[in-house]
Amino acid sequence: MARYIFVTGGVVSSLGKGLSSASLAFLLKSLGFNVRLRKMDPYLNVDPGTMSPFQHGEVFVTDDGAETDLDLGHYERFTNISAKKSDNITTGRIYSDIIKKERKGEYLGKTVQVIPHVTNRIKEFIKKDIINEDFVICEIGGTVGDIESLPFLEAIRQFSNEDGFQKSLFIHLTLVPFLKSSDEIKTKPTQHSVKELRSLGIQPDIIICRSEMPIPPDQRKKISLFCNVRFENVIETVDVKTIYEAPKSFYLEKLDKQVLKFFKLKPRKKINLKPWNKITNTILRSKKVVNIALIGKYVNLKDAYKSLDEALIHGGIKNNVKVNLLRLDSEKLNSKEINKNLKKASGILIPGGFGKRGTDGKILSIKLAREKGIPFLGICFGMQLAVIEFARNVLKIKKAGSSEFDKGCEPVVGLMEEWDKNGSIIKGTNLDLGGTMRLGAFSAKLRHNSLIRSIYRKSSISERHRHRYEVDFKLKEKFEKKGMIFSGVSPDNKLTEIIELKGHHWFIGVQFHPEFKSRPLYPHPLFSSFINASKKYK
Ligand code: GLN
Repeated sequence: MARYIFVTGGVVSSLGKGLSSASLAFLLKSLGFNVRLRKMDPYLNVDPGTMSPFQHGEVFVTDDGAETDLDLGHYERFTNISAKKSDNITTGRIYSDIIKKERKGEYLGKTVQVIPHVTNRIKEFIKKDIINEDFVICEIGGTVGDIESLPFLEAIRQFSNEDGFQKSLFIHLTLVPFLKSSDEIKTKPTQHSVKELRSLGIQPDIIICRSEMPIPPDQRKKISLFCNVRFENVIETVDVKTIYEAPKSFYLEKLDKQVLKFFKLKPRKKINLKPWNKITNTILRSKKVVNIALIGKYVNLKDAYKSLDEALIHGGIKNNVKVNLLRLDSEKLNSKEINKNLKKASGILIPGGFGKRGTDGKILSIKLAREKGIPFLGICFGMQLAVIEFARNVLKIKKAGSSEFDKGCEPVVGLMEEWDKNGSIIKGTNLDLGGTMRLGAFSAKLRHNSLIRSIYRKSSISERHRHRYEVDFKLKEKFEKKGMIFSGVSPDNKLTEIIELKGHHWFIGVQFHPEFKSRPLYPHPLFSSFINASKKYK
């Protein structure tokens, strides 16, 4: 029987609802339960696929090809359970489904309304695809009090009174600020936020208080009294040095114990936190530092390359080193800047990207990595640019480019129509911007005696994609003659998935995003190997 845990947030956004949900999921999984994590986003975009990283940080891609909120990345990294399309919903998606149905006349002449039609659709989402899960943790995006989140809060209230009766638990995460001027921890914002929640008919069962410093018992008592929550269910979460300390800190605060107590359940297994301790120790104590230059358009934005940042940390854990990122804005990189900045780097990474801005700086950096033997990893756009650099400077195709950002170029990277999962072509000139990419997991064959094969130690792999453009496969022979090997190709030999350079110690480009599959406990081999090569380089 599935139990439902709803996680809401109050006072301010960005308190770490995603991390708290992921940590709780990890603890429950470790206690022997089957767990599923879901995210409901109140914005009107159908999915975050078309949103700029400035707005929404990274777009996380699932195996089944959904473009989702970056919190699903936290969920996967903490639980090692692959998320699915059905685990993320937005107001935009709900309305778009409802309006489609309405146009088809499926509401049989009824007036279509927020209650019950929108709320019913949200309740369907909560229960959808649940098979043998013991716990379904649903995080509600935004902050209590936002107009957008009202239908979601109303839906979870209804749910707890219907299908979820006596099977639902409400967790509310709030900020408990410290006021320097009065040298005091303040509980009033939490009281107000809970009051707001209760006015919507939701009484939290557990309150998680985010605070800069430990909350003294008196203040906890106050929260318990005013918010009508048992004292032991007022849980604190004090800022941690690395996010991977979060599961342990929630364990020490007995969050998992209180959840099981609420549902009158006994643990099925003992929790083993040793592997996590090892991770945090390595992250916090490693002396050796490896400098990796991350060159992109959004490097100064905290969450724009979230999974990538984490995957690099995982690679560092595997090699017992601390990875220090030199975040270089590709738009500001001219050749002088590159020579100066890249001198400090032991490895160069060009992540995924879109559009012309900043491409010149990236191409110049790739040239340097290729010529000077600096370890290089190009991801998606990074690989496409590595192919363009090679075509221009080695094959001497001076006008080589991608039709994505240069209409007058000689395209070595181009739009190959739109591909579906079976490799067949869906033609259409007027496709919407969202959902027209090669998205989700695809397999690749790895060539014998290649660097990539020695890294994966497999002949075939599956990785997640998110792109529209492809390297022209017809150029394979021409490139290989000069030393750029197409060492990973699609099973039907039509698409270039991986390139590497003969004679270069470590130069790899991948058309997919390996960062989505890296986990702290299971670092991705490509990142482990890249950091290892960089560690040896300098
Ligand atoms: N802009 C490129 C494409 O659409 C690469 C996308 C990416 O790096 N994710 O093919």
